[in-house]
Amino acid sequence: MSTVILDGKATAKAIRRELKKEISTLDYTPTLAVILVGKDPASTVYVSSKEKACKWAGLKSINHHLDASTDSETLRNLIIKLNNDPTVDGILLQLPLPSHMDEESLLMEIIPEKDVDGFHPVNQGKVLLGATKGLIPCTPYGIIELLQRYDINPSGKEAVIVGRSSIVGRPIAALLISLNATVTVCHTKTKDLKFHVSRADLLVIAAGRRNIVDSSWIKKDAVVIDVGIHRLDDGTLTGDIEFDQAHALASAITPVPGGIGPMTIAMLLKNTVLAAKLRRSN
Ligand code: NAD
Repeated sequence: MSTVILDGKATAKAIRRELKKEISTLDYTPTLAVILVGKDPASTVYVSSKEKACKWAGLKSINHHLDASTDSETLRNLIIKLNNDPTVDGILLQLPLPSHMDEESLLMEIIPEKDVDGFHPVNQGKVLLGATKGLIPCTPYGIIELLQRYDINPSGKEAVIVGRSSIVGRPIAALLISLNATVTVCHTKTKDLKFHVSRADLLVIAAGRRNIVDSSWIKKDAVVIDVGIHRLDDGTLTGDIEFDQAHALASAITPVPGGIGPMTIAMLLKNTVLAAKLRRSN
């Protein structure tokens, strides 16, 4: 059986095209406020990709690029202003914030209705309680959407997730439970990572560390989702696992780049359109 490449780039493009069509039928323009504090190079690239994607699909993005020395109160006041602005449907606070700011409390300032990243405890809580629709955190949402578009049903599968972050590991675990997978979450204190990885039918790696999962551990015909992104010294991007050997064993696998990264951006747009529609239906 030849291995299917789960093409996040093409799938994200298809989603953006669908959104563009949908937006063209609305009598308003869904609007995303993007806040970037400082000039972290990776964040600047992410923000610019998100802004470009918005423009392409017909969403309006309003950019708030603040100096790295901005104090927390100024940022908090901006978020409150955007919360109260009826023309703004979604608010994106690009992470990481400078070290003098408390990310968690500032993220929580965004009202759940405009939390298009899906990070607010209300939106995360809904996912934990079984929601698979709504303002779902974008990266896990992108994983689920990609699986669905390739007709990969997690039901009954042994799903193993490496990583327990609040933006990837935990919400993808909750979503996969809701989709009837049997889920194991591995983390830095997991005793025998190889044991867990080698029995996964569906493996999601979001450790942010290269090669802690050895590709040779992958079960034959497993579906492999590599969330990690690393820039090598020569400038190329790579994921958490060594691709070639994983590809040889897997039935389906995401590439890096071109896998979960573009899907994450597409789901941000999808969430913004959803937030715009929900706000107007209330
Ligand atoms: P994080 O650092 O918050 O969490 C990493 C998790 O991996 C932790 O829960 C930790 O317990 C686990 N881990 C680390 N080392 C481990 C080890 N040796 N054994 C077992 N578990 C281990 O990271 P994150 O924010 O979840 O991101 C993970 C990766 O995904 C990063 O490379 C990040 O850049 C990438 N990412 C990509 C996208 C995207 O759009 N493609 C989105 C978010 C994150």
